[in-house]
Amino acid sequence: MYRSHNCGELRASHTNTEITLAGWVQGVRDKGFMVYVDLRDRYGITQLYFDEEQTNKKVLETAQKLGREFVIQVKGKVQERASKNPNIPTGDIEVLVSDLTILNKAKLPPFTIEDKTDGGEDIRMKYRYLDIRRNPVKNSLIFRHKVTQEVRNYLSNASFIEVETPYLIKSTPEGARDFVVPSRMNEGQFYALPQSPQTFKQLLMVGGMDKYFQIVKCFRDEDLRADRQPEFTQIDCEMAFIEQEDIINTFEGLTRHLLKEINGVEVDKFPRMLYDDAMRLYGNDKPDIRFGMQFGELNQVAQHKDFGVFNNAELVVGIAVPGGNSYTRKEIDKLISWVKRPQVGALGMVYCRYNDDGSFKSSVDKFYDQDDLAKWAEVTGAKPGDLICVLSGDKNKVRAQLSALRMELSERLGLRKPNEFAPLWVIDFPLLEWDEDTERYHAMHHPFTSPKPGQIELLKTDPGAVKANAYDLVLNGNEIGGGSIRIHDKETQALMFDYLGFTEEEAKAQFGFLMDAFQYGAPPHGGLAFGLDRLVAILGGQETIRDYIAFPKNNAGRDVMIDAPAPIDDEQLTELSLKLNLKS
Ligand code: ASP
Repeated sequence: MYRSHNCGELRASHTNTEITLAGWVQGVRDKGFMVYVDLRDRYGITQLYFDEEQTNKKVLETAQKLGREFVIQVKGKVQERASKNPNIPTGDIEVLVSDLTILNKAKLPPFTIEDKTDGGEDIRMKYRYLDIRRNPVKNSLIFRHKVTQEVRNYLSNASFIEVETPYLIKSTPEGARDFVVPSRMNEGQFYALPQSPQTFKQLLMVGGMDKYFQIVKCFRDEDLRADRQPEFTQIDCEMAFIEQEDIINTFEGLTRHLLKEINGVEVDKFPRMLYDDAMRLYGNDKPDIRFGMQFGELNQVAQHKDFGVFNNAELVVGIAVPGGNSYTRKEIDKLISWVKRPQVGALGMVYCRYNDDGSFKSSVDKFYDQDDLAKWAEVTGAKPGDLICVLSGDKNKVRAQLSALRMELSERLGLRKPNEFAPLWVIDFPLLEWDEDTERYHAMHHPFTSPKPGQIELLKTDPGAVKANAYDLVLNGNEIGGGSIRIHDKETQALMFDYLGFTEEEAKAQFGFLMDAFQYGAPPHGGLAFGLDRLVAILGGQETIRDYIAFPKNNAGRDVMIDAPAPIDDEQLTELSLKLNLKS
């Protein structure tokens, strides 16, 4: 028996009990005639005590030589501490050690294994197994486990069946590049790793499974923006014989359950916002509604004077920054530089101070009088003491820029409180999205999403205006889930592929299996998928997902611990009938 108890378990009530513990040496305090060792395992830390009088000489000497992260086993008796430590649950006791066995020595770790470590991100990633010993990472993984357990409980209780779908498949279009896997047995042919199990879950509906879920890895070969992973986990779900309302109710239920069980937070019915309104009021399809600062469109009250910049703009739009009138000129100049950074891309920013005495002072006083500026305040909802920030230009661009500014300022103002949860549904997404690069429409969600009833005809005349039966679940400014009601008949699906620019042959080659299945009694169906990594991070009050993933990849998509990706040897290449044609 390696241990009778764990390192987080012993209390004053165990005094005089003979116990055996095993774990890692967190630290040694050697006072010569007495030695203290902090012994750590997953459950906590227990203080071990050795002294000249009570401990066998050899045992004391071994204790004095222990290094950090040595793996040891001790036998001894629990005793009350002379000076108690109220900060840890085992702080009332210590173990007077009689036997000490070194189970394994350890090299000096490259960073301190403490809550606040001296190790930078890179080194901690390289030695991730050591990082996992630290509370912040360990607790995040345990937290993730709790969330997934609750998801499984909730969905199982609601009659969902967890079904695994294959990883070696053919491309599923979810808007990213595929990772591919060469097939040795089928020369020159490749599997694609699923961007999501989308087509399989639809086939499960044709197969009569009715309510499906899976906690599943998805793979997308995207350029990794900050805090994205090339492989990530979804809670993937699908239901048959349902309408949008059923999906929304079911998964609102799941989200509410998680907020209650995990965070102890009760949330009322989630608000719903039309996609068009989200864009108009927040410049963003995943608005953070924990705070206001809604957009005010100013065209009507700012395009009647001689200010060319505004007059020539498709959209003039502003936000009121609470208390922003306290910013100095220098601070405002910094803000202007901030919006002009290439990452945001604004050409400039007009501002207007709303003074406490009710007067206004703007950067465009030459063109606008007090009455004009009062209207800006009205439209943006500004109050005395606020600062109105105004951007102008192309509608889509300017919305994105002002949204970035809104998020930045709210962060600085402390309005994005991690313990506050503001979920909402964004509904009625456009079916299609214009892609500047390819000069074509793409499915905004994916090509299996159905248009709103009665809108199919509009596809011919005004494709960009067609709305979809598609919805996103947004939590604290993050899209945590998204899905749609699917097309379930062959004709509409074929039509959709046609609008998306697939020839009949291409559609058949890529998705023939799905269209075939639709001819054998496909039920009406729909679903959604949650991004589990992000959901867990937000419930955990964090914005980054990495700590919630045991072995994450870095921003370049590399696993620096195992050093992947890596070249394969010539023999393997030959076996796969592959030849490299490297660009560099
Ligand atoms: N497959 C979709 C996605 O990964 C989710 C869905 O439509 O159910 O975003």
